[in-house]
Amino acid sequence: MGKIIGIDLGTTNSCVAVVEGEKAVVIPNAQGGRTTPSIVAYTDKGDRLVGEAAKRQAAVNVNQTVSSIKREMGSDYRKTLNGKQYSPQEISAMILQKLKKDAEEYLGEKVYDAVITVPAYFNDAQRQATKDAGRIAGLNVRRIINEPTSAALAYGLDNGQAQKILVFDLGGGTFDVSVIEIGDNLIEVLATAGDNHLGGDDFDNCLVDFIVKDFKQKTRIKLDKDPTAMQRVKEEAEKAKIALSSTTSYNINLPFLTMQKNEPAHLEMTITRAQFDDLTKHLVERTSGPVHSAISDAGLTPSDIQKVVLVGGSTRIPAVADMVKRLMGKEPSRGINPDECVALGAAIQGAKFGNELIVGSAASEMILMDVTPLSLSIETVGGVASRLIERNATIPCRHSQIFTTAGNFQTSVDIKVYQGERKFTKDNKLLGNFQLSGIKKALAGRPQIEVTFDIDANGIVTVSAKDLGTGNAQEITITASSNLSEEEIERARREAEIYEKADNEKQELIDIRNEAEQLVYKVENLLKEKGDSLDKTEKKRIKGDCAELKKHVLKCKPDTITDQQAGYIRTARETLEESAKNIL
Ligand code: AMP
Repeated sequence: MGKIIGIDLGTTNSCVAVVEGEKAVVIPNAQGGRTTPSIVAYTDKGDRLVGEAAKRQAAVNVNQTVSSIKREMGSDYRKTLNGKQYSPQEISAMILQKLKKDAEEYLGEKVYDAVITVPAYFNDAQRQATKDAGRIAGLNVRRIINEPTSAALAYGLDNGQAQKILVFDLGGGTFDVSVIEIGDNLIEVLATAGDNHLGGDDFDNCLVDFIVKDFKQKTRIKLDKDPTAMQRVKEEAEKAKIALSSTTSYNINLPFLTMQKNEPAHLEMTITRAQFDDLTKHLVERTSGPVHSAISDAGLTPSDIQKVVLVGGSTRIPAVADMVKRLMGKEPSRGINPDECVALGAAIQGAKFGNELIVGSAASEMILMDVTPLSLSIETVGGVASRLIERNATIPCRHSQIFTTAGNFQTSVDIKVYQGERKFTKDNKLLGNFQLSGIKKALAGRPQIEVTFDIDANGIVTVSAKDLGTGNAQEITITASSNLSEEEIERARREAEIYEKADNEKQELIDIRNEAEQLVYKVENLLKEKGDSLDKTEKKRIKGDCAELKKHVLKCKPDTITDQQAGYIRTARETLEESAKNIL
């Protein structure tokens, strides 16, 4: 069986990992990064960019760039890119496709299976949409697991002790707190809380505002009118923020940032950690509310928590880590890189399916227990939401309840399934509905209709209704909530496959050019080193063939090379390899 990769499909960054030997390791992307920005863009030539390349051009190509698509998962949101409308599942699939490809290059083999993580609060539609994104990307999603559970798994590997832990996850755009119990062969999410709009981007924006204001004060130049300058300021602000996590001051230096009266204007300033902490104090303070809520929702106090785990790149900010320490009264664990922890846990879960971990080790026997993020109910008379499954119930789970008819001689009932905490269905989210018909005619209140909710290990809900009088039954699996039909997913998957093929073909052309370029330099150097040992005609021929290949290589740029140009390069390369075989 092939490797099963673990994917942390994040709001701002994604990370992919795999278990090698007995250890989970992060798979670097093709650009060498250990995480990949969850950003997709199309250039004006219609080329798709994913990751770092898309991030670098974001501010100057706003309309054709999508970031934070995770926030839209499970919704009807559509983004038009390159003249075509895409669902959040399809855009997420583009990110997953890149991660899959990077993993295949690293592993030297095809990857088919993955475990993907989602926030613990993701509802059914969001989980289903994530699964669909995986399918579109050509991945068999073996399991969707909660991010904090995954982080706990990454830490739990070395240590099977029973304990309660708090996972504090501050990423690029979101903040999640979860309280988790690691017990005998069991990891259970006890409670979750958070802020969907708090993360590293807010810290960057504070710095950007500060830099722009300071520059305006000194030069009267308004940078926010210049998208290219703003892109550079944004990138520099993030760099400064990251540097200030390990140094106490940073020099911001942006030469030729913009033009003023036909003269270039340069930006130079120093920012200290104290200034940064002051600018972002209000953001750090916003993390305390959700921490208190999660702990009290779990029925605990901070002293009941044995371990605090930091997840997400923004927990590297010293003021954030200090805040956690102050809130919890203990030093947080830092054994694993916070931005890699979730993917590593997912890889460990993946390896369990593949039985690659030693049988008998703590992780291989660990059972994951997740919770339902929101209560599930059906609508009864008066629009009341009658709950069958309470929020934070441990899954997989099943619960049945007997209902009856409201009218005399009623032969059918509508079963409407809702998700949410409110008393009336109108305030909750409708997940799906179906009709149970063929009920035996009887006075109101007589028929006995058993409604059963079944939630599987992935958090996917099936609801069934059975008339106990006749045995008639109906059921639905709540999949329609992902917003894409089976045909739409299949079509998107085929399109993604075609795109991947085209992408690979393009990569092949780029490789032909780059390898030929390397050969040119190699032969030029060898001629310098060993040229004297060759006879004149041979040396002349090699030089001529080398110049011919160089001419073809220089004629085309890596990103625009055509089939015809690659053909010329291939022929010239074969000729050179033949003539230079004595020195190669
Ligand atoms: P994540 O989504 O977990 O990868 O977190 C991404 C966020 O972490 C981004 O806003 C990064 O700028 C931020 N980040 C990464 N490394 C650091 C660091 N050393 N100090 C402060 N923030 C960081």
